Amino acid sequence: MTHTLPKLDYSYDALEPFIDAKTMEIHHTKHHQTYVDKLNAALEKHPELKTKNVEELLQDLSKIPDDIRTAVRNHGGGHWNHSFFWQLLKKNTHAHGKLKEALVAQWGSVEKFQEEFTASATGVFGSGWAWLVKENGKLAIVTTPNQDCPLSKGQHPIIGLDIWEHAYYLKHQSKRADYIKEWWNVLNWDQAEKNYVHE
Ligand code: MN
Repeated sequence: MTHTLPKLDYSYDALEPFIDAKTMEIHHTKHHQTYVDKLNAALEKHPELKTKNVEELLQDLSKIPDDIRTAVRNHGGGHWNHSFFWQLLKKNTHAHGKLKEALVAQWGSVEKFQEEFTASATGVFGSGWAWLVKENGKLAIVTTPNQDCPLSKGQHPIIGLDIWEHAYYLKHQSKRADYIKEWWNVLNWDQAEKNYVHE
């Protein structure tokens, strides 16, 4: 298969004023597109991998040939992570259902979970992602460097936050904490609930 940039099911300005339209457009059409293009370019060298979808490629990187393993990790990860991230953006949703129950059971309240997630995301050195994952039946807040994907560690992602500067620099410059604070207003809790319930 040839990997392709997924269309967003909302417009670039749908998340205003929390995430600006220009950032969304560049992030989607330039940054994400580049990960897709470089993944496809890497796979040209190994046509036998063309039947695999991006999840299958990432789930066991040890099976990827040495000469393209780093490219698949970086660009396959970039492609999957962004596709996942776009679906998790929507205004005016709220924690509910089974995920809310699980967050309260583990952290005491949704707000306490948000505080801990924010602290982890804010503290990542350099480029990376913050995640809520399920691992061995338990929820955990984890971070990954670069475009590393939790799927490669056998974790089940529920929430993901891009904390590369390209996700916020136009609007917030170096102020990552402001970006994270605003992002909570556009976290799509309905999608997070789906990600939690459907494994
Ligand atoms: Mn990004």
